[in-house]
Amino acid sequence: MSKANYLKTLIITETVANNLGLNVGGITPFTTIDFPGHLAAVLFCQGCPWRCRYCHNPHLLPMDVSGQHTWADILSWLETRKGLLEGIVLSGGEPLVQRHLVSSVTQLREMGYAVALHTSGVSPKRFKEVLPLIDWVGLDIKAPFDEYNAITAGGAISGDHAKEVLEALLASGKPYELRCTLDPVFFTPERATKMANQLATLGAKHLIVQECRDNEHRHSKPVSEAIRVAFEQVLPNVQYRS
Ligand code: SF4
Repeated sequence: MSKANYLKTLIITETVANNLGLNVGGITPFTTIDFPGHLAAVLFCQGCPWRCRYCHNPHLLPMDVSGQHTWADILSWLETRKGLLEGIVLSGGEPLVQRHLVSSVTQLREMGYAVALHTSGVSPKRFKEVLPLIDWVGLDIKAPFDEYNAITAGGAISGDHAKEVLEALLASGKPYELRCTLDPVFFTPERATKMANQLATLGAKHLIVQECRDNEHRHSKPVSEAIRVAFEQVLPNVQYRS
């Protein structure tokens, strides 16, 4: 069976099987850029409790639907990828809302895969449970922690959760990347300074600033010089992605 045909067979909804593992709404079969140093596949988890204005995966947000792929089929497919892939990236949506995250990551590790987690930090409890099994973390930083709700619509608690996740991540010594999609409506130089100071106080040394894609006009909004200066005056390593 060709790879294309095999992937088509994965587009099946089977609630029972999904309940036994991750609820996966999409797959990128091969990537070299989402897990540093690893040839990997990306599993996009279905469901996220937050509603960031710039979210580019709105189809992955509903929490109460089954994803496109059963966990059993994904494991079968990953059996065929052994020796070709080195790692699995869990992205979303939000992997931390998956009930079976720890057991699913354990299964992936038992198959010999390294595992990367892309998260916004919605659940410190589940993050701490799964972190010992994770090889690399990409953590989204949305805003100064006390202003998270303006971006996430997840309530004042959303910033507290993200802060607690960052603290646990930094304490773990695991390799990680912090990245911020810069909402040009929200961010002023003052807010950039405030956020950079909060990150630096916790011990973060770098930040990757991603330009915010304009959903309406389909282009990125460049980060202003004033905001670049604000970040770079506080954090020793700031990089930019368009
Ligand atoms: S946390 Fe991520 S997946 Fe959830 S709404 Fe925000 S950008 Fe979208």
